[in-house]
Amino acid sequence: MQLTYSKNVFIPLTNACRNRCGYCGFRSDRPRIMSKREVVDILKKGRRARCKEALFTFGEKPEVIPQIKKKLEHWGYSSIIEYLYKLCEDAIKYGLLPHSNPGVISEEDMRLLREVNASMGLMLENSSERLCQEGMPHYYSPGKNPKERIKVIETAGKLRIPFTTGVLIGIGETWDELLDSIKLLKSLNDKYGHIQEVIIQNFKPKPGTPMENRPEPSIRYMVEAVRLARKTMPTMSIQVPPNLILGSLELYLDAGANDLGGISPFTKDYINPEADWPKIEDLEMVSRKLGVRLRERLPIYPRFISKGWYSEKLKDLIHSYSDSEGLVKWS
Ligand code: SF4
Repeated sequence: MQLTYSKNVFIPLTNACRNRCGYCGFRSDRPRIMSKREVVDILKKGRRARCKEALFTFGEKPEVIPQIKKKLEHWGYSSIIEYLYKLCEDAIKYGLLPHSNPGVISEEDMRLLREVNASMGLMLENSSERLCQEGMPHYYSPGKNPKERIKVIETAGKLRIPFTTGVLIGIGETWDELLDSIKLLKSLNDKYGHIQEVIIQNFKPKPGTPMENRPEPSIRYMVEAVRLARKTMPTMSIQVPPNLILGSLELYLDAGANDLGGISPFTKDYINPEADWPKIEDLEMVSRKLGVRLRERLPIYPRFISKGWYSEKLKDLIHSYSDSEGLVKWS
């Protein structure tokens, strides 16, 4: 059995966001946005640490916050997408393949970002509109309306963008709603063939948020969610976040997980800053004990490399990093 991960740098571009999800500890009412210099500094360190992926994560439509809009304009950008595009070009220049999570954006913006992203991502979270009702975690989050998110995932399929998505577990969904969400992702992938991995992510309560006292899902529930995803999508890569499930890896692998997502040698998980990334050497040791082959992969999965689902701007980098299997040839 093979277990994959991507060695990356995590770049939390801005914590400004138009949404207010009940579980979010990342968004801030006094937001900041990283300057190009700060980003380039991380990219340079990433290059030195032999990372291959630059993960850009940030709040949705941050320009609706006046101070962020003003800052972008001051730097000469009309939108966060325009700024992101330039930073992705920098990432490529420093030898890192961009993977952006820009939230709900237009088809035009996705088409633009496709040129400079090896893959992109948007969590479905859950397909149930019930979670957007009053008293539920997505009530103050227009961007978490499942219809909006499904549209983005579909657009990615039409544009042939290798795509990462997933579900958030333990936010008040029922088992049937989870099942519906996973079936929906399957049907989108059956139609467009563009989903490269499905993340099964556990909710973690964050101090100071409306859901700070809500218990996180049990390991048993999480393992069953992974099993459900594996049963529904037998050939899909099923990802579990290694810093949130450490200690129970064997159970997750038994249930069908086969990918650990991004692991950074020096940047934090800014969404779950309390949870350190495991060291790759430690993971190698655990994998060996479990009889599993740990392999580094790129942010674009092998089958999309074979199909040529990447732009000319990324071609040389992808080819220089990948071996005949489409995985990383050196680490
Ligand atoms: S979880 Fe994401 S979309 Fe929701 S408030 Fe936080 S940053 Fe915004």
